[in-house]
Amino acid sequence: MVGLVHLYTGNGKGKTSAAFGLALRMAGHGGKVLIVQFLKGMPTGEVIAAKKIPEIEVMRFGSKEFVNPKKPRPEDLEMARKGLYAAKGAMSSGEYRLVVLDEINVAVSFNLLSENDVIAAVKERHPSTEVVLTGRYAPKSFYDLADYVTEFKEIKHPFSRGVPAREGIEF
Ligand code: ATP
Ligand code: MG
Repeated sequence: MVGLVHLYTGNGKGKTSAAFGLALRMAGHGGKVLIVQFLKGMPTGEVIAAKKIPEIEVMRFGSKEFVNPKKPRPEDLEMARKGLYAAKGAMSSGEYRLVVLDEINVAVSFNLLSENDVIAAVKERHPSTEVVLTGRYAPKSFYDLADYVTEFKEIKHPFSRGVPAREGIEF
């Protein structure tokens, strides 16, 4: 089967959960999955659960603190680059049926990674590897690159009425 490219972007909730849902589906058919997370370092339920599934591997390249988009630290840059390097190797190896690049759109929009480096890595993937790019603020070039483009649009979110992130729902 030929591997295609998915883009999950927009300001609505559900992008990362959708990507993990797809990982679950692939794992159910015995396909190996790699999830590479950019920017994120905090423990989240989906990562804890994914570790219990033998077909799913997770690599994280983020710290526990939020990255300041206006002033990223050298280590933020370093981690993002390491993440792309690892993702690139995994995508071209043919070892994985699915590679998820979670929050990579945000890493690009914060200038931690270049749009063109990401596009080149995705294009050089093994022909049978499916790729998912997630995160807000995807550049136009990612819309062109992807075969599936889904925008998650916020209509309502309880955060705007002061409800803080809830365990098992937001993280
Ligand atoms: P999820 O991780 O729940 O699948 P997501 O990947 O679409 O959502 P992100 O844009 O990556 O969400 O945002 C990161 C965090 O902010 C997540 O915990 C998410 O649930 C939460 N979130 C998503 N949309 C909003 C919003 N409109 N307002 C506040 N918090 C949000
Ligand atoms: Mg997300």
